[in-house]
Amino acid sequence: MTTEITDAIQQRRSFAIISHPDAGKTTITEKLLLLGQLIQVAGSVKGKKADRHATSDWMGMEQERGISVTSSVMQFPYRGRMVNLLDTPGHEDFSEDTYRTLTAVDSALMVIDGAKGVEDRTIKLMNVCRLRDTPIVGFVNKMDRDIRDPIELLDEIEEVLKIEAAPINWPIGMGKEFKGVYNLYTDTIHVFEQGKNYVLTDDIRIEGLDSDEARELLGVYYDDYVDEIELVRGASHEWDQDAFLAGKLTPVFFGTALANFGVREMLDDFVEWAPAPLARNTETREVDPVEEKFSGFVFKIQANMDPKHRDRIAFMRICSGRYTKGMKMRHVRLGKDVKIADAVSFKAGERELLEEAMSGDIIGLHNHGTIQIGDTFTEGEVLKFTGIPHFAPEMFRRIRLKDPLKTKQLQKGLQQLSEEGSTQVFFPMNSNDIIVGAVGVLQFEVVAYRLKDEYKVDAIYESVNVNTARWVESEDDKKFEEFKRKCSDNLALDGGGHLTYLAPTRVNLSLSEERYPEVAFRSTREH
Ligand code: GDP
Repeated sequence: MTTEITDAIQQRRSFAIISHPDAGKTTITEKLLLLGQLIQVAGSVKGKKADRHATSDWMGMEQERGISVTSSVMQFPYRGRMVNLLDTPGHEDFSEDTYRTLTAVDSALMVIDGAKGVEDRTIKLMNVCRLRDTPIVGFVNKMDRDIRDPIELLDEIEEVLKIEAAPINWPIGMGKEFKGVYNLYTDTIHVFEQGKNYVLTDDIRIEGLDSDEARELLGVYYDDYVDEIELVRGASHEWDQDAFLAGKLTPVFFGTALANFGVREMLDDFVEWAPAPLARNTETREVDPVEEKFSGFVFKIQANMDPKHRDRIAFMRICSGRYTKGMKMRHVRLGKDVKIADAVSFKAGERELLEEAMSGDIIGLHNHGTIQIGDTFTEGEVLKFTGIPHFAPEMFRRIRLKDPLKTKQLQKGLQQLSEEGSTQVFFPMNSNDIIVGAVGVLQFEVVAYRLKDEYKVDAIYESVNVNTARWVESEDDKKFEEFKRKCSDNLALDGGGHLTYLAPTRVNLSLSEERYPEVAFRSTREH
């Protein structure tokens, strides 16, 4: 690989934002896009969710409901680096998608609502990040409000998230009295200005906490603040790049995304400190990002991203080498070579035909039904990237058509939606029912909405006597045949053709597990 390309790979910074709903992920994403010059003016991020349209919320339904249902990818150059920002759905019903997106990044930005502190979803997502020791940068948001004591917040991050917290800057006041942040390492104050949230402005900086300007800014609070800084320096962890890269320490920034303050300061350091594309594990060996030969895996599939195009896009993280337009790739699971000339990149929802991409980048492949989540593509080597999970659904509905003549469309729609991985479809062996499973109840609404919107199918959901699902397999063919015969009323095929046991109750599941020890009942399936 030429040094030019190796260098370009080293400049990649691929990350996602993790946060609890309402902490400000959408708002900060918008400000990042502003900094990346993908947009010139931040959209109308208003209090009322329904009428705001941040660029990353591009789906009709997302706009209506004010939730990010799907992940998209945004790429922009910033201070000599190439940033790949992967948007993740915030609502907990979509956590599977989020988990898988986290397998495709090298670092994460954790946004915390300063008034609320560490919340549920953040804890869960941190646990996912910890599986791979993903480095995390922290941003305490909403400094323009009365937030909790910053020292208490740092303690909470350390205790609840089990990660060392190193404040990089420290707030001066909060709420109406918020005056800015003081950088503990550069000894500069970044002065807060009201009402500059829609466009990029020049920073106002004061050099030195000891300066006359600093004394003037702080006024009667000056002495107390100097004491506080001393305390903070003494009591908190110091910034440590190695500990950060090992996932053991998070640098913490304070700011307000809404007022567009402190985001730039954070991003400047983020792109400097965050890791370049990391090596990835496969079943056979570790793949280095600067290897000559191309490889990548699919972590997400999205149908009909753009109603104008009516197609399905598979999102692939490139793990090594380079994609060039027209190259031949091996679809490892199918053992087939395919020529790819129409991969796309994403810029805030707009897609562009791609000439070239490399390790760390996310590209979109057109999927005509042959690509599944977890699929590996290479230049010929038989590899399989590991660690992309698929979870058993927890909620089930039988789906019935208002117009029975639309069965074909329904099946097609469900099949495609289930390929995306957030809902799953089951076809019971002994009936003509169609059962949809999901991890959260909101997903059913999304499915109903999309079936109607994209496939013109009006469907009704009914409760169904299924409590949980398990993928089943066995090495003992004879016993497995017996199991299949005796339990056929509970068996179904999922959208990918995998045999699944649909249990009406937990007790039933336990009994079957006891009765058939040779059969493995799995609650997750690695793609
Ligand atoms: P998400 O659910 O994490 O994407 O959060 P949003 O970005 O939608 O923000 C949730 C709410 O908090 C919205 O009403 C935002 O306007 C508001 N918000 C976001 N950042 C700030 C901030 O820095 N200060 C204040 N006061 N409100 C904020």
